[in-house]
Amino acid sequence: MKEKILVSACLMGVNCKYNGGNNYDPKVAEFLRDYDVVLICPEQMGGLPTPRVPSEIKDGRVINKDGEDVTDFFVTGAEETLFLAKKYNIKKALLKAKSPSCGNGKIYDGTFQDKLIKGDGITAKLLKENGIEIITLK
Ligand code: SF4
Repeated sequence: MKEKILVSACLMGVNCKYNGGNNYDPKVAEFLRDYDVVLICPEQMGGLPTPRVPSEIKDGRVINKDGEDVTDFFVTGAEETLFLAKKYNIKKALLKAKSPSCGNGKIYDGTFQDKLIKGDGITAKLLKENGIEIITLK
């Protein structure tokens, strides 16, 4: 039986990105050939619509470009993702880089000026805290 892995759905061509598009990359699909894939989109799972206003993390809160605090949606999405990981005993997640949900090690700085700082997205952080390995290819 193949190992299960959580995967940011936008990387596999699901149009769940904030602008209604996706981040499909054939190298991700190739990497996942040996896994049993469980697609997740924490922002949708947290109750946000698609398309939606883009958000960045600032001082521990998630703020969208209109200045609204959307932290609760992001936290709910992270908790739903962790619920799936536990339910299926998943130990790895392949997540989209730089996202305020899925980003691993680098995220935007909250100014919406394409500036990266050290940090994790809300979901990536919660998964790591629960012993799940995060892999980032794109
Ligand atoms: Fe992709 Fe994650 Fe953003 Fe959803 S929350 S669109 S899966 S990067």
